[in-house]
Amino acid sequence: MYKWDIKYLLALKKHLLELINETSNCELIGDYKEQLKSINYILDYYNNYLNTGINLRRKRSKVPSFKSVIYNDKELFREYRAYNGIICLFKETLEKLEFNGKLNDTRIIRKPSFILTMSKDFYSQFNGEIRNASKVIMSELNQTLNFQKMNPNCRLFGQTLPIYNSNIVFFDIRYNNTIQDFLTVIHELGHGITHILNRNILEDSKKYCISEVETLFWELVALDYLDKKTNWHSQIYNAKVMSLKSYLYNVKLLWLKMDLYNNLSLGELLNNKVFMKYVKAKGKSYNDINVEYVKSELASEFYAHTVSFAIAVELYLLYIEDKKLALNKLLKIIKAHSLSSEEYLDLIKKLGIKPCENLQLYVDKLIEEEREKGYAKTLYYRN
Ligand SMILES: [Zn+2]
Repeated sequence: MYKWDIKYLLALKKHLLELINETSNCELIGDYKEQLKSINYILDYYNNYLNTGINLRRKRSKVPSFKSVIYNDKELFREYRAYNGIICLFKETLEKLEFNGKLNDTRIIRKPSFILTMSKDFYSQFNGEIRNASKVIMSELNQTLNFQKMNPNCRLFGQTLPIYNSNIVFFDIRYNNTIQDFLTVIHELGHGITHILNRNILEDSKKYCISEVETLFWELVALDYLDKKTNWHSQIYNAKVMSLKSYLYNVKLLWLKMDLYNNLSLGELLNNKVFMKYVKAKGKSYNDINVEYVKSELASEFYAHTVSFAIAVELYLLYIEDKKLALNKLLKIIKAHSLSSEEYLDLIKKLGIKPCENLQLYVDKLIEEEREKGYAKTLYYRN
């Protein structure tokens, strides 16, 4: 249905090479070369994954050694220390929750193109800069979107690939006929809009912990939108509960990592027997944590999603009360760049956002919705 127009990408590359040859302005050449780098990256992605049908999971399956994960994590823990207070509050709030394992299937029966239409409609309701940026993205989707059925061996959801200093963003999005498809499209298009509003920043490692604020915010707002437009109410509700469950998992995993790194030496960590004994002694609260996952995943991703979600929830609750104010604050977060981790956190505080302040309220609202609509009990506080 939607495939990347690779000729379009090759023409862009050719045009850039011409520009580089024609100019002697060093600054411009530097800029063009950055652009060229992102175009080549997207071409590589196309040639290695999309064009060949290679199993992405297998290709990426060079699992990093636990030792390298430990070294990377230890660096990050130092870098992201400023965010540990948020993680702690997040954990305290969500830890009181229990989830009923039998969450209903979120499967939906509609053509995937319907999901795309709903996502486009969702973004077109906004005004000003967000509207303009989303218009740019939507008008190019014919060339820039790859939208195909998810490969069961490779649970890749979505990927956003922007071109530096340009209005062009490529997307690789997979659908599986569940509500998650809608969330993936909203999420990746959200990254695309951020790129349009911040065209010269492709990577801002210090911003990593809050790099998902806008996308997770859009997901929350978009689910309410979808709820009004369809009769998928219980599936949408389940998607919300499932995401909460996965955040709780994130934070538990992060916590366990911190605990392990603080209390075991490198030798002890690498000794499987000692490692397992320590995890088991931690008892029930870590029962559901997949130890292999702890060993192979970097902490950074969990930081980014947990901290960003905590902030996104505050913005979402504000949005319900005052749309304009919430979107203004969001734009300030989106446009901030080149700050340190502490300065990003200061910015959030200056905007009057206290991460986790109303997380409990968000959970209470969900539980209330469950009771009100008579859904199966999936979410409750531990006695
Ligand atoms: Zn993301």
